[in-house]
Amino acid sequence: MDPDQFATPERKAYPGCTYCGRTFAEPGEIAGLRARGDVTALDDARGRQRTNDHVPSKVLLDDPLPTTLHTVPCCQRCNNGFSAAERYLACLLECVLAGDTDANKFTRPKMARIFNEQGSSNIRKIISDSRMETPDGTFWKSDTQQSHMVLKKMARGHAAVNGFPLLSDPFNFWVLPLEFLTHEQRNEFEYGISDNRLFPETGSFALDQIGRAAGRREDWVTVQPGRYRYSYTVQKACIRVRIVLREYLACEAAWDHP
Ligand SMILES: [Zn+2]
Repeated sequence: MDPDQFATPERKAYPGCTYCGRTFAEPGEIAGLRARGDVTALDDARGRQRTNDHVPSKVLLDDPLPTTLHTVPCCQRCNNGFSAAERYLACLLECVLAGDTDANKFTRPKMARIFNEQGSSNIRKIISDSRMETPDGTFWKSDTQQSHMVLKKMARGHAAVNGFPLLSDPFNFWVLPLEFLTHEQRNEFEYGISDNRLFPETGSFALDQIGRAAGRREDWVTVQPGRYRYSYTVQKACIRVRIVLREYLACEAAWDHP
C-alpha cells in the first residue's frame, strides 16, 4: 500500500438498536415525514431516533459516574421504555438493603431523592405493596418482569460493547441474591470453579489464590465498588455475562456464540 495514497474509509453499516434491532431513523427522514404529514410513520421514526444508552444504567451508580462508562446505540423507544424499570430495580434494592421504604434509611442519597420524587409514586406503591412481614423476617416480592428486563438489557449491553449484539433471549438466565447460592454455586459464579472438590470459604485468601490460578478472578470488572460489577466471558462456544448489584443480587445470562 502506498502510504501517500489516502483512501476514503468505507462507511460502515449503521448499526441498529442494541436491544430491539430496529434501524435508526436516518437524518432527514423525520423532516421528510413531517413535511408529508404522515403522522403514524413520523411517530414510528421518532421512536427510532438514535440515543446512547449507558451500560450499566446510571441509576444503579452513584455520582460522580465512572469516566469509563460504556454506551451502546439504542433507539429512543427502548431508552424510554427501560427508564421506569431501571428506577424500580434500583429503588427495590435500596429498600431491601435498608429493610424499609423510609428513604431516610437509604445509604445512597441519589436513591433517596429518586424514591421521593413525585414521578416515583407508582414505584413507591409497587414496592410498598410487595413488602411482606413474616415470622422469618421481612421479604420483598420482586416484579420479575421489570427486574429481568433491566438485567437482560444490561447483559446484552455488555455483550454488545464486546462486539456481540444479541437480540435473542439467553438460553440460560437466572437472578438470585448472592446469599441464596450454595457454596459450590457461589464458587462457580465467582471463580468459574465447577468441580466438586472442597474449597475454602468464599472470600478467603486461599480461594482467591485458587481463583487467580484458574485465571478467573480477573474476569470481573468493578464499575463502582459495592454498586456494580460484571464479568463477560466466552466459554465453550457460549457468551456468558455475570452481574452483581450492590454485592447483593447476582444475575447470569448466557447465549450461544453467534
Ligand atoms: Zn430499540
